[in-house]
Order: sequence, then structure tokens, then C-alpha cells
Amino acid sequence: MKKVVLITGASRGIGAAAANFLAEQGYQVAINYKSNHAAAEQVVAQIRALGGIAQRFAADISDESQVVELCDEIKMQLGPISHLVNNAGVLATQMRVEEMTAERINQMLCTNVTPYFICAREVLKQIRAHHQPDQCAIVNVSSAASYLGGANEYVDYAAAKGAIDSFTRGLSLELAAEGIRVNCVRPGCIYTDIHADGGEPGRVDRLASLLPLQRGGKPEEVASAIAWLLSEQASYATGTFIDLAGGK
Ligand code: NAD
Repeated sequence: MKKVVLITGASRGIGAAAANFLAEQGYQVAINYKSNHAAAEQVVAQIRALGGIAQRFAADISDESQVVELCDEIKMQLGPISHLVNNAGVLATQMRVEEMTAERINQMLCTNVTPYFICAREVLKQIRAHHQPDQCAIVNVSSAASYLGGANEYVDYAAAKGAIDSFTRGLSLELAAEGIRVNCVRPGCIYTDIHADGGEPGRVDRLASLLPLQRGGKPEEVASAIAWLLSEQASYATGTFIDLAGGK
């Protein structure tokens, strides 16, 4: 079976690392990104330089119609999608709950929760129409924040990731009879630019010494777990979580 994987938010960070890792394993990789064409093109070029197959697809995944078009476009250009990595996410600036507005909280949910459902919905259509479902799988990227709580920093982000944990469990049960596996990784402090976007570029270094392993993680250390959960080697794993948080 030709394996075509959609990775959302794959122009940098954990998504880009997963794109490289999965391309090396023979997946044809659809690299979704919101607006940074140059960064997405660089990931594509890196993969192609090593003989892999990848293509970039711009889409704002918080817009339902763009997700529908994205999945149709991938099907036309690479073939029907067989695997999904729901990865794209944002981290808002640090704030205590009593200062949060409904607008901020809704924005968080619009990017970090709803698109995970919509991407899964669209990919499932292609899986059922074109693939052997029990050869297909989904991995959701949640966060250690879902169980740590994000107090004084971003409880809205932590709650959104908690929703992804429940989504993983629920969807895995809905799809288990068809053999479609749904699993989740929960990274802790990983060196990516999400922390700069959240207003604290040095956050991983600040927290590293507090972690049992006493260091931040690398995107590749999350990518390898994503790849394992998607693979046949994880054929008996569904509804499960791999915590990659340096022991937290
Ligand atoms: P990142 O900021 O490098 O990557 C996130 C990507 O998602 C970016 O490329 C961004 O442009 C994209 N994105 C955001 N909104 C989008 C939209 N509407 N449409 C399309 N793309 C969009 O950060 P990362 O650390 O690689 O994050 C990847 C995932 O890992 C996220 O879900 C994040 O919450 C999660 N995570 C990261 C850490 C960490 O410490 N880095 C820890 C726990 C969980």
C-alpha cells in the first residue's frame, strides 16, 4: 500500500522533524503549513535531497473549508491519504485565568482543538474509500501541559490539549472495530520556535534544570515516537499516550 501522510503545521519544529523521519521510512509526505512558503519549501527540498517524496500544501487549518480543499488537493497530487499527524498548534502569551477573555480562549480552541476533528474527518473519508483501514493510523500531538495544568502560564492551552487527550481516546474507540488506530504523543519542553511565539524564547532553558532528565527535548525525539505509533510495529496500540517530557 502506498502510504501518504498528512502532517499539519510541518514547516518547522516537531512537524518538520516528523516529515523528515516519515519520508525516510517511505511515506509520501504532505507538508501542510499556514503561510511560510520558504520554510515549507526547505523541508520539501531536504526530503527530496535524500530521495524522499514530499510536497507542500498551504492551508489555514482553523478554516474548515480550507481543510476540505487541502485534503482534496493532497489526494489529487500525492494520492489518497492513509495516515494523519494532527500536529499544528499555537501557544498564547502567558496569562492567569482571571485575565483571559472569551476571545483568547476561543482562538486557542479554534486552532488547537477543532482542526484535529476536521482533519480526522476528512482523512477518514479517504481511508475508507481508498485504503485497507486496518493499515491506517492517526497520531495526535497533545502536550504534557494536559496533565500538568499550565498554571499561571496558559491554562487555556493545557485545557485545549486535555481535549485532544479525550479526543484521542474517544476516536480510537469509535474506529477500533475497523482497525484504524488513533494514538497520541505528549511532549514536554521541546526546543522549537513555539516558545518564542508564546512570548518566551528561553522557556525551555529556564525549565530544563527542573526536569528529571535535566534537559529540554529535541523535535527528533518526538518525531521518532510519532513514527513508531503510525507504524505496523505499534499494531496493537490504540488510544494510548506516549509522554515525552523528560520524566515529568
Ligand atoms: P512550532 O510553532 O514550531 O510548530 C507549530 C506549527 O503549526 C507552526 O509551523 C505553525 O505555523 C503551524 N500552525 C499554527 N496554526 C496553524 C494553522 N491555523 N494552520 C496551519 N498551520 C498552523 O511548534 P512545535 O513545538 O513544533 O509544535 C508542534 C505541536 O507540538 C503543537 O501542537 C504543540 O502544541 C505541541 N507541543 C510542543 C511542545 C514544545 O515544547 N515545543 C510541547 C508540547 C506540545
